[in-house]
Amino acid sequence: MAKLQIFRQFDNAPGRNAAPGAGTPVDRSTDKVNLLDFDRAALAAWFAARGEKPFRATQLLKWIHQQGVDDFSAMTNFSKALREELAAVAEIRGPTVAADQLSSDGSRKWLFELADGNRIESVYIPEPGRATLCISSQVGCALNCSFCSTARQGFNRNLSTAEIIGQLWMVNRLLARSGDAPVSNVVFMGMGEPLLNFDNVMAAVSLMQDDFAYALSKRRVTISTAGVVPALQRLAEATDVSLALSLHAPDDALRTRLVPLNQKYPINEVLHACREYVGEGRRRVTIEYVMLEGVNDSDQQARALARLLRQVPSKVNLIPFNPFPQTLYRRSSAERIDSFRDILHNSGIVTITRKTRGDDIDAACGQLAGDFTDRTRRRKRFEVEVTGGAA
Ligand code: SAH
Repeated sequence: MAKLQIFRQFDNAPGRNAAPGAGTPVDRSTDKVNLLDFDRAALAAWFAARGEKPFRATQLLKWIHQQGVDDFSAMTNFSKALREELAAVAEIRGPTVAADQLSSDGSRKWLFELADGNRIESVYIPEPGRATLCISSQVGCALNCSFCSTARQGFNRNLSTAEIIGQLWMVNRLLARSGDAPVSNVVFMGMGEPLLNFDNVMAAVSLMQDDFAYALSKRRVTISTAGVVPALQRLAEATDVSLALSLHAPDDALRTRLVPLNQKYPINEVLHACREYVGEGRRRVTIEYVMLEGVNDSDQQARALARLLRQVPSKVNLIPFNPFPQTLYRRSSAERIDSFRDILHNSGIVTITRKTRGDDIDAACGQLAGDFTDRTRRRKRFEVEVTGGAA
């Protein structure tokens, strides 16, 4: 069946006629302070240092994050002098849209270009009663999970706070323009490992939860991690947002093959850190489990998973594997996934199979790739592996 695919190439960056292609990043950074980098506390400190009252911070947050304003002259509750002063030293600059794809199921993927020319992806998933934005935390990813397309692209750098919150800021502006409802839920399930970019992710999360910015409750923001144990311990002190763990295997030998980080932080340590994070309350960790045919999807593995999860209050999301070019993995059949789900379910574990969204535009879990220079040379190594050096 032919699937609808709309692809538009944008050229909205000032001062140039064509978007640069891969490998030719154009640096458009400026010396001005980007106010998207500041959460409320940082903004209040910045204003205080300039001799302004702290309440300016909440006023400015509302202009930027609730009104989507990037032009100081529109900030009518600031004096003309203050508006001019701000415009001279600061800017409000999100990423630019390099491409925008719409899936036949209504989800949308944006390829965002950053000031240094790197490109990252964000995915918008509308559902009845909610609209989820899946955002990136790094340019690429350093973790090298064997079933993930981002891993193939290698790693370049962490995103700044402005570049993380800028995805939400920009998407809400675009949605407002088309008359769509704003984002109601954010998941850190795009490119990168959020807990390896801790401080910038935390500042962005604080803006997401701030009543003067996005006012998203802790249930509406989810950090997904491959299990960076020391950062999980810090996370409990920093925030109370929802937690998802990418587990994918019920034993260490298999998990290390799929998620190499497991060598450093094995399953029991990771689950212990998750249990500490959710505490004694009624909250649960979402366990993400990608369904790979013949690898991690047997009934026996489902039973092992159920036993393992006795140690942490959890619910399971089974994610049908989303293929990408040159992967050797295959998606488990629907019958296999149902059987796996039933075993977990019968052990008293709430289990859902995640609906695959946006796979016709490569926007589904694990398919995000962006466009950037790989500092790890992993992309090159992988090409040599699959072609035997012939490419
Ligand atoms: N680094 C973080 C967040 C990014 S990945 C983490 O590991 O959780 C978001 C989710 O998509 C993770 O659960 C990841 O394991 C899953 N995923 C990655 N590649 C996938 C693929 N090809 N098919 C289905 N899910 C995938």
